[in-house]
Amino acid sequence: MSTDLKSRIIRHIQTSGPLPLAEYMHWCMADAKAGYYTNQQAIGARGDFVTAPEISQMFGELIGIWAIEAWQACGSPEQFNLVELGPGKGTLMSDLLRATAVLPAFQSAAQINMIETSERLQAIQREVLGEANVSWHKSVKSIADQPSIIIANEFLDVLPIRQYVKTDSNWHERVISIDGDNELIWSLSNAKLEAENLPEGAESEPDGAILEISATREAFLISCCEHILKHGGAALFIDYGHGKTGFGETFQAMRNHGFADPLEAPGEVDLTSHVDFGALANIVKEAGLEVKPLMTQGDFLIKLGLLERAGQLGHGKSEEMQAQITSAVERLAGPQEMGTLFKVFCVSAKDMKLPPFD
Ligand code: SAH
Repeated sequence: MSTDLKSRIIRHIQTSGPLPLAEYMHWCMADAKAGYYTNQQAIGARGDFVTAPEISQMFGELIGIWAIEAWQACGSPEQFNLVELGPGKGTLMSDLLRATAVLPAFQSAAQINMIETSERLQAIQREVLGEANVSWHKSVKSIADQPSIIIANEFLDVLPIRQYVKTDSNWHERVISIDGDNELIWSLSNAKLEAENLPEGAESEPDGAILEISATREAFLISCCEHILKHGGAALFIDYGHGKTGFGETFQAMRNHGFADPLEAPGEVDLTSHVDFGALANIVKEAGLEVKPLMTQGDFLIKLGLLERAGQLGHGKSEEMQAQITSAVERLAGPQEMGTLFKVFCVSAKDMKLPPFD
């Protein structure tokens, strides 16, 4: 059975031709009527995937400690933007605010800005955080002109990508078209990626290799960099990905905590891809800002005091509670779980010393 969104996509392809993957993803994720983040209960045990802040309060608390460090590294400004990109259910920000209440000067200086396109999630965030001192935006471009501390967990991976496949020594765009039965299928377009846009190593890749590029991700990063360059601050992006631009498919669809077919039910499954932090690092350097050495999520959290915080939290609690906390530590920082696959990418104004990176 075709969903309404699927029928609209099929009609569009019938009249206007195949869709680049980025357009397909945008439609699936952000369509005002049937997009994934518009409608689905995506995040959490009853959704399709669980994110770090939903695993344990310790995640947001430790990011709070990092935010205090970043604020102090900026010279403890009397007012600054505390910005979160794609805040989901608002859990990270709520844990961060509780943990940073120990430093009233930080809290009274912070003006909270949530960058969120989904009205459904905005409403959940409003419920969790209240409206006092919180504002919602669609982009970083509309936040106040003052230093900013920007945080983004599992945000970059949801932004649309384009895919190119090496065919007869050229990189052709992979697009979505329809077959004779009006089903969505993958195909290759005649459009080629210009040589100047290819990363290093592209020449030696064999036919069939796949390259993923996300202009939207780059544009988001550039808007953060422009703001920090003008007004100071730092940004922290946590996501699954790799430090060196690689070739290969990382695009994936998730439903009910398992992999799904990305073309089967547009708008009903989560579509993501791994983040190419290598490509993003080049953009930051070109913008004149500093990129800290890429760290794994496991190292980052342990350096910020994950084990100590777990000990405190478990102190005097039941065995069951303690086992839950130990399991959360393992999920967040264990090398077989999120600890190694997830990376922490930090951008700052030049010459800013920032723990735990420096
Ligand atoms: N950070 C949260 C949620 C991750 S899911 C967590 O860790 O649990 C991705 C989030 O990004 C959702 O809140 C989604 O609505 C939001 N989002 C997706 N595309 C966006 C865009 N272009 N601009 C702003 N927010 C976006």
